[in-house]
Amino acid sequence: MSLQLQREVSLKPFNTFGVDVRARLFAEAHSDADVRQALACAVEQGVPLLVIGGGSNLLLTADIPALVLRMATRGIRILSDDGRRVVIEAEAGEPWHPFVQHTLAQGLSGLENLSLIPGTVGAAPMQNIGAYGVEIKDVFAGLTALDRQTGELRDFSLDECNFAYRDSLFKQQPGRWLILRVRFALSRVEHLHLEYGPVRQRLTEQGVDQPTATDVSRAICSIRNEKLPDPAVLGNAGSFFKNPLVSAAQVARLKTQYPDLVAYAQPDGQMKLAAGWLIERAGWKGFREADAGVHKAQALVLVNYGEATGLQLLNLAQRIQKDISERFQVELEMEPNRY
Ligand code: FAD
Ligand code: NAP
Repeated sequence: MSLQLQREVSLKPFNTFGVDVRARLFAEAHSDADVRQALACAVEQGVPLLVIGGGSNLLLTADIPALVLRMATRGIRILSDDGRRVVIEAEAGEPWHPFVQHTLAQGLSGLENLSLIPGTVGAAPMQNIGAYGVEIKDVFAGLTALDRQTGELRDFSLDECNFAYRDSLFKQQPGRWLILRVRFALSRVEHLHLEYGPVRQRLTEQGVDQPTATDVSRAICSIRNEKLPDPAVLGNAGSFFKNPLVSAAQVARLKTQYPDLVAYAQPDGQMKLAAGWLIERAGWKGFREADAGVHKAQALVLVNYGEATGLQLLNLAQRIQKDISERFQVELEMEPNRY
């Protein structure tokens, strides 16, 4: 089936903030051939190409004068299995959480802490998705991307991806690499990460004392369901700001004024502050102006109560940044990709 090109399409169903902007052109890619056809089509029509997955890390602030290509490629395959270590590959358009569940059902561990993250496999390397002490770099075995500058395919190893906290080469070079499929090295022998936040406590509450990877996934899903707004009910893009990395000296200074400040030591000597704590302490939790707001239960999440525009959400985010900078001398960086 060849590429189905549509004109002037509302992107409201294609971004989890539920912001209503239009794409000049829109198409879905179900194969590598569709991707190449879309790139050619964008050139022909004289517009840029913007690739999206599940739209769960986007803030759309205006109509998009581009061909928006939604990755809908599907396919999961095991590439190697030595009885302990299994390399599994998934196409970019595979929805992330069902992929995680599929690996668990095959008896493979490694992705359980990343359960219930919205979006697609292809977008996961963009910001090296992470949760509960695990990032995809910890289980990454490679990916194949299309170089939009040359049209050539390139395989990337772990070292070539520049993965860092919510960052990667692909984020640093926006619009250059179109990720087609991603590989993960998972394990038939479980090495569970339970020491983060409330994971172990939740397992205990659930009466699980010898957890499996599937138990960990269930516990994390239950914590997330309680704490985070479901985008199907209340528009949001997850954490709106990254947790800022600051010096130990700055933390010591802040602690004299805020003894209960939350900060985590990093391997490189820096300290990570909980951005949600700063925003809550500054009084923004539950704030609402028109339909743009700060979630009642989690101050790190901006929400759209219905008809907020991307600009209203951006304006609110900028006010929060300014306030946090003035109060704590800490600069917050926005996490979602803005267009
Ligand atoms: P999109 O939002 O569609 O795109 C994100 C960026 O990637 C855009 O710049 C887009 O151009 C680019 N892109 C998308 N697909 C491709 C591709 N195939 N090739 C090249 N570029 C591409 N994130 C975390 O890290 N941890 C969490 O725990 C987490 N929890 C969340 C909870 C909620 C409720 C929500 C709404 C979001 C959360 N997120 C989290 C953010 C988001 O889900 C992830 O960043 C996710 O990987 C985005 O995937 P997506 O397919 O929706 O990407
Ligand atoms: P939380 O458990 O309330 O913790 C608050 C913050 O403290 C988190 O942001 C986390 O940083 C940090 N933290 C907690 N325990 C830590 C530890 N043992 N060591 C180091 N840092 C620690 O956070 P939450 O909001 O409920 O989110 C839970 C997890 O899901 C977090 O990992 C978070 O990143 C992830 N998440 C991400 C998004 C997103 O959109 N990016 C959305 C929802 C949840 P880190 O964020 O660095 O882990």
